[in-house]
Formats: sequence, structure tokens, C-alpha cells
Amino acid sequence: MFIDVHAYHLSAALQILVGIDTIAIHPWELKSPFDQLAFDNNWIDVCKKSYHMLAIGECGLDRAHENIVDIDTQKEVLKKHFELANERSLPIIIHSVRAYSDLLGMLKRKPFKNNILLHAFGGNDYEVQELLKYPVYFSYGARLLKNPLTISIIPIDRLLLETGDQTEISIEQIYSKAAELLNISIPELQKIIKKNFLTFFNQSNDESSSDFIKNLNIRHKPRELF
Ligand SMILES: [Zn+2]
Repeated sequence: MFIDVHAYHLSAALQILVGIDTIAIHPWELKSPFDQLAFDNNWIDVCKKSYHMLAIGECGLDRAHENIVDIDTQKEVLKKHFELANERSLPIIIHSVRAYSDLLGMLKRKPFKNNILLHAFGGNDYEVQELLKYPVYFSYGARLLKNPLTISIIPIDRLLLETGDQTEISIEQIYSKAAELLNISIPELQKIIKKNFLTFFNQSNDESSSDFIKNLNIRHKPRELF
């Protein structure tokens, strides 16, 4: 089984689909100047829909994207997402671009008790070591095909894989590259990722997990209509 923990496009893999399984306000949606009224309206929607979601995300911090609000406002918004995830006892999926030290600062000030997924992880060795002090999982995507990155220093039980917003790259390609970099077979990697995926969502890795997986596929059914 190929598991794609952060996907925007429906495929044959077992997926967590942004907007179907998760909800948040993405930092790119926070256009500058900050429109408090628009934000409040969107936030009400996020809070309502969060009752039906498996995770809060993707939300986060981005120091590279143009024409979005300043980093302090982004931090305020991310703080709200952490609080919401705490209230709902949900894990959180984070977008972070050139902002791992900002994120670490926030976690140091107020540790988050649920699991955190750093999607399309692109941090360095030092950041990996610091982030490992928290319940962080590292998800690798398309960049892995060009760059070995830090995948080999991630503890194997904190690793996940994704396609993200890519349409030209399949999750099978990402698994194949990751297996090569980690020097393990694809079936072995699939077993590891499945266990990590279930742990991330607080599911046990036994017979009972089949319901979680079955329900996930049922949730995606309506997407086939589009
Ligand atoms: Zn992202």
C-alpha cells in the first residue's frame, strides 16, 4: 500500500487530502494588507468544519512567498491553528518555508501536545535535531527526487511521504527514491510508512486500523464525481 500523507490530487494511493481530510487557512491566503474581517469569516468556517476533519492543516509560516502578511501576523494565525488543534485533539500539518526557527521559537514558548507534520520538509540537520524535541513527523515530497536532503538522518519512525501539490510526480516515484536513499526495499518502506501514518493519527497498527483506512477511502468517494 502506498500512503500519501499530504495530497491535493486524488490518486489510487491511500491519501490525506487537503480540504477533505484537513482544514486550515494557508499562509498564502493571508494576503497583504491583512483583512481582519475576511480572516474572521474564514476562521469561523475553519472552526465549524474542523469537527469533521482528521487534522488541522495546512497552515504555517512562509518567509519566501510574496504579497502575504508579515511573519508576526502569520505567527498569530498559526497560534490560533495550534489552539484549535489542541481543543479538538487533532494533529496539525504545517507548511514552513525559511521559517523553522520561527516555528521552533513558538514551540519552545508553548509546546503542542499533539502530533505535528512538517510537510515537504526542507530544513537542515540542526533544525532536524531541534525539531525532534517535539512530536514532529517529517514528510518528504517531490524535492527528494532532485536532492537527497536530510532524509537519512530522520529517525525512521518519524518519516512520512507525500505528493503535495505536484501533479507530474506520483507517490510511487517518491517511495522508490526514498527506498533507494535509505537503502531498504519498497515493501519494507511501505510497512514503516504505514506504521508511522497510523501512529501520527493515533491509530493502532493492528486489525482495528483497517476501519480507519476504509473510512478514509469512503471520505474521498465524492471527489470522483468531479
Ligand atoms: Zn505547503
